[in-house]
Amino acid sequence: MATETHEFQAEVKKLLDLMIHSLYSNKDVFLRELISNASDALDRLRFEGLTQAELLPDEELAIRLFADSEARTLILEDNGIGMSRADLVENLGTIARSGTLEFLRDAAASGETSPDLIGQFGVGFYSSFMVADQVSVLSRRAGEETATLWSTDGSGEYSLEEAKRDSAGTTITLHLKPADGEDGISDYSEEWTLRQIVTRYSDFVSYPIRLTTMKQEEGDDLAKAVEIEEPLNSMKAIWTRPASEVSDEEYKEFYSHITHDHEEPLLHLATALEGTFEARALLYLPSRAPMDLYHREMAHRGIQLYVRRVFIMDECRDLMPEYLRFVKGVVDAEDLSLNVSREMLQQDRQIQAIRKHLVKKVLESLKALKEEDEEKYLGFWAQFGPVLKEGLLPFDEKKERILELVYAATTGDQAQLTSLSDYVDRMGEDQEAIYYMTGSSREVLAGSPHLEAFAEKGLEVLLFTDPVDEVWLEQMPPDYREKKFQSVGRGEIDLGSKDEKDGEESNQEAEAYKDLIQCMGNALQEEVKEVRLSNRLKQSPSCLVVDEGDLSPQLEAMLRQAGQDVPDRKPILEVNPDHAILKRLQAIFEKDGTDARLSEFSELLFGQAVLAGGGQLTDPGTFTRKLSGLMEKAL
Ligand code: ADP
Ligand code: MG
Repeated sequence: MATETHEFQAEVKKLLDLMIHSLYSNKDVFLRELISNASDALDRLRFEGLTQAELLPDEELAIRLFADSEARTLILEDNGIGMSRADLVENLGTIARSGTLEFLRDAAASGETSPDLIGQFGVGFYSSFMVADQVSVLSRRAGEETATLWSTDGSGEYSLEEAKRDSAGTTITLHLKPADGEDGISDYSEEWTLRQIVTRYSDFVSYPIRLTTMKQEEGDDLAKAVEIEEPLNSMKAIWTRPASEVSDEEYKEFYSHITHDHEEPLLHLATALEGTFEARALLYLPSRAPMDLYHREMAHRGIQLYVRRVFIMDECRDLMPEYLRFVKGVVDAEDLSLNVSREMLQQDRQIQAIRKHLVKKVLESLKALKEEDEEKYLGFWAQFGPVLKEGLLPFDEKKERILELVYAATTGDQAQLTSLSDYVDRMGEDQEAIYYMTGSSREVLAGSPHLEAFAEKGLEVLLFTDPVDEVWLEQMPPDYREKKFQSVGRGEIDLGSKDEKDGEESNQEAEAYKDLIQCMGNALQEEVKEVRLSNRLKQSPSCLVVDEGDLSPQLEAMLRQAGQDVPDRKPILEVNPDHAILKRLQAIFEKDGTDARLSEFSELLFGQAVLAGGGQLTDPGTFTRKLSGLMEKAL
């Protein structure tokens, strides 16, 4: 086959442009990216070799660097899985994940301080163009006979031609740009520079990284290739070493090695499972939520599974429940088969035992963090709280332990979040339930009429504002420290109003308003289930309440949005018998029970209640017209 020329996908062109006029000040990372690709390729070969031993080469699996300062080239070679012609087109001519470019551009435009997103978004290879103006890739797929040479100067096209390579693997040749201190480009043909970068970023790569440099000996005219004997990296599987012998620095480097996140992790946790099943794990909590935390379809690296130090797979989801999907790290199991497949993992008893152990450890260390350093814990909570709360949805065993970790806004100290346990500690002796309200924001909730009676009695109410709160609180959460959860916007509220109206007084009130209430109910029969007198209102004339057993309107809206069929349930309108509006309405009613104003005002009270609850009017036009008419009369 002759040489073919191909255009890069438009997204790739833009990306290359970003790389060439690089927005990243740290150019050294290109080497980490290429080494990590080589290491992935070796992992994949080793994995396929488990079932197809003939694919494995006789010589050592390794990553080799050849640096030539005369020719200004740096060559990276691996004897890993390699790429076919089609693989090259697919992997090095397109961007696999849609949206990647947008993310990178936005991050660059917003001037994010350390957006080391190159690796995170699977565009590592293209980072070579930060340091090279000509790149070629010679690759041969394991199990195939022919090789392909891919090359480009990064300007928009690349060429492909058939080529020869003695065995499977990949050779990447970079024609280096001149070193430029100002632009952060070091001399990547120098031993010292390469050694530094490798120890910094790739020390834990589990294959030897060997360096050969061109040396000119005294008296010799020709430079000779000299291989440096020791690999540049230590290759130590950090999780197999006793924690006391690993420095914090090493733990951090390993974290960025496996996650490509160059912010420091919030904490790490080394743990071993002993007994029937043996495994070691080294887990990390990131400091910051990745952008794809809520995009299930986007890959997140999560937990890597090793079996007896052999890499098996990235993203082993069976080792961590969804609500802990932000946990990163490595699990190394002793007794699993190397041939284990993703499908088999789900049923594997060892995997289940490991998962149980890991969940327990993660929750325990979060609890310890909360107790020892609340400020740091709140930083974690701000990033991952909503995800953690997914664990409170049904069918999970860990509810109790997760409730221990929950924080929420409160009507008490408005500037701060409070933990559930601190809330319960503050509860008065006769307070029976944990009072809470859910809604879209703390501001909307704080002004809600539902809170009036609570405020008057000095009762603190928790304000939950994440969408997931609607769901878990709706599912009847278990009692927490023997206290029930009680929504202030649901059902009848009895705040033990002994000292105010006695039973008789409120009976009389009910009797007096009975007919008016009936009349309002008729006027609003399309909108509400019932109109009734309220004992939760103090200043406001009306509010909406969800009936015991009905879905909250927010949850209803969420379910509808998710395409579910939700029965139409109407709320209850509560009106305040002590409010002047009610008293006037009563007077009108007594004069003439058919007065048109009665239904008009009922509509307005209903509309107000919708708005005060943070809801939306179905017919805002009519509401505002009525309101304007009223204002006109009043003025
Ligand atoms: P990522 O590694 O996140 O997938 P990269 O841009 O670094 O993104 O690499 C793109 C793809 O190119 C890889 O997924 C892999 O399929 C392929 N690739 C890159 N380098 C090699 C290599 N040395 N050997 C085999 N395949 C490679
Ligand atoms: Mg990569």
